[in-house]
Amino acid sequence: MKNIAIIGAGMTGLSIAYNLEGQKITLFDKSWRPGGRVSTRIHDNYFFDHGAHYLSVNHNVLQLNELINKLNIVKEIEIDFATNYLKNKKTKKKIIIGKNGMNSIPKSIFENISLNNYFNTKIIKIKKNNKGAYTLYSDRDEFKNFDYVLICIPYLQSKELSSNLIDFNKIMHEPSYDPIHTIMLSYKGKNNINLSGGLHLHKDISFFMNQNIKFKNLIDECWVLNMSSEYTKTNIDIDDKSLEKYAQTIFENTFKIKNKIRFIKSHRWLYAQTNISYNSLSKKYWINSKDNKIFLTGDWVIGKSLSDAWSAGEKLSHYIKILTV
Ligand SMILES: Cc1cc2nc3c(=O)[nH]c(=O)nc-3n(C[C@H](O)[C@H](O)[C@H](O)COP(=O)(O)OP(=O)(O)OC[C@H]3O[C@@H](n4cnc5c(N)ncnc54)[C@H](O)[C@@H]3O)c2cc1C
Repeated sequence: MKNIAIIGAGMTGLSIAYNLEGQKITLFDKSWRPGGRVSTRIHDNYFFDHGAHYLSVNHNVLQLNELINKLNIVKEIEIDFATNYLKNKKTKKKIIIGKNGMNSIPKSIFENISLNNYFNTKIIKIKKNNKGAYTLYSDRDEFKNFDYVLICIPYLQSKELSSNLIDFNKIMHEPSYDPIHTIMLSYKGKNNINLSGGLHLHKDISFFMNQNIKFKNLIDECWVLNMSSEYTKTNIDIDDKSLEKYAQTIFENTFKIKNKIRFIKSHRWLYAQTNISYNSLSKKYWINSKDNKIFLTGDWVIGKSLSDAWSAGEKLSHYIKILTV
């Protein structure tokens, strides 16, 4: 049996772990939990899905649908959604959410796969030994004897990690990511906002979503705002206080909010969403080393959603299965 390392326990890495279950797999993540950008933050009594907000009802990734339904971890809800708030365009929209927050999706998938795992373990170097096997290094440990290393992290980070093993001069088409600053905020009492979420709240706020529709036990009203990627790019180093104040002022002025704010915090996603996918440029679904032992994949191969991440992982695992029979 081959010894396979997966770096990254986001939806891509989990998809591979799920599809290769039964093989000798070791999963590494620098974070303390699985899910990556599918992230539910808990602050005091407030809950925020401040990464992926929902799964699209028509994402078409059959295997992911079957799995989340089998595990009974999602629900479909219908919300009042502004397709373009600035142009006053509204509709009823169906979305799929995790029953206990979006992170409960990757968390449950992870709990249902048996594998070796190392969290709080950032892989900083990968080296090939003289027998052709690979060693992974964190700042404290060495993990030896991997036949295959599957790197499932954002493109630029995976390029940095594998630049000694893959000739990136030969990669003609590089995918790109947009950064997003997100703001989590909550108010004492209920505001008079007749939308659950939407797009284009303001030229600098591309997305907003109420969290009480997801977390029924929340007493205060909680919201997540995504700053637009244009705003984020031009204000990449803005300090937290100025960013939070700016977003809060726009939000409160737009909805004429009088209630007192109880909590506000921002988070910076440097590699938030794929802008141009690798497949759209190259027609390929992964990047590999010359010896066909190191593979790079992630949502960036296909698109910008968690179902794209699952699909990218599914595609690479089929190939790895062929290589390892
Ligand atoms: C603000 C925001 C809103 C979004 N909204 C939606 C949405 O509504 N719907 C939707 O479908 N998608 C949405 N997305 C996109 C979706 O979250 C991603 O497409 C998907 O989660 C990417 O999964 P991934 O596994 O490819 O990457 P990631 O989730 O980034 O996983 C990579 C993992 O690798 C780990 N890692 C990185 N470097 C190392 C290292 N050196 N060693 C070990 N571990 C490492 C990270 O900790 C992480 O867990 C959103 C994303 C953001 C940021």
